[in-house]
Amino acid sequence: MDNPTVWLNGELIPLSDAKISVLDRGFLFGDGVYEVVPVYRGKPFRLAQHLDRLERSLAEIRIANPYTRAEWEALFARLSATCTADPHSVYVQVTRGVAPRQHTFPKGVAPTVFGIATPLSLPNREKVEHGVGAVTHEDRRWLNCHIKSTSLLGNVLMAQYAADHDVQETIQFRDGYLSEASSSNVWVIKGGEMFAPQRDNRILEGIRYGVLADLARECGIRFEERPVTEAEVRSADELLITSATKEVLAVVTLDGKPVGDGRPGPVFRALYAAYQCAKEAL
Ligand code: PMP
Repeated sequence: MDNPTVWLNGELIPLSDAKISVLDRGFLFGDGVYEVVPVYRGKPFRLAQHLDRLERSLAEIRIANPYTRAEWEALFARLSATCTADPHSVYVQVTRGVAPRQHTFPKGVAPTVFGIATPLSLPNREKVEHGVGAVTHEDRRWLNCHIKSTSLLGNVLMAQYAADHDVQETIQFRDGYLSEASSSNVWVIKGGEMFAPQRDNRILEGIRYGVLADLARECGIRFEERPVTEAEVRSADELLITSATKEVLAVVTLDGKPVGDGRPGPVFRALYAAYQCAKEAL
């Protein structure tokens, strides 16, 4: 993995040869979008949903999709083949391209497309079996969180806030309601029922959002998508976080206080097992 093969603007090249201009708008403005797809045993997990979301993100920021669906699929397959590690993830990002620095969109500029496959280190046994900690913070990000933008400063600051507190994640609230964590969606379980904030502009609709909703149905866990108050989060029986790289984890402490009985609960165990089965079924 010292010098992996990466994709840059139409070719697979060694990382050390992959160079972009300092005038790339991704560098100057964070003017781009991205995706991260987990790959198990060489098979991408929910690729179609990731490509749908990439299309939505590109449309939202008005970058013409540089590739057809078939070209994206082929690109993911080619990138995946560059990485022998199992599991691995494939990262792609599209920026508005290179142009003299000016805020408005340049005309006639081709987007920059970059991609790389890297080993995916899933949460270790300790985290899966005993859960993780989280802290809370007011959500100070912009109101276009549904766009999977490379402008991640708000998320970066919240990820570091968690790291500074030696916990896994920062769970954010906006106006007294749960939004999401720095790089995960958040699920609240109370009385055997599961709740998550509605999919709107205040959260990124994780691909695991749909996955967990499906798995909950399979497991006979009632799930409702609705506004979730801060008080509900703080009095939850169980709290879960999900993302491509974390899969499903139980949050067992929040701001240093135990969540429920302070151990991963039955809903976590059921959904974690179902998630592993969904991977096996690929
Ligand atoms: N919210 C944010 C802000 C994220 O960065 C992520 C991770 N990409 C998620 C939610 C979860 O999304 P997914 O399940 O697609 O990884």
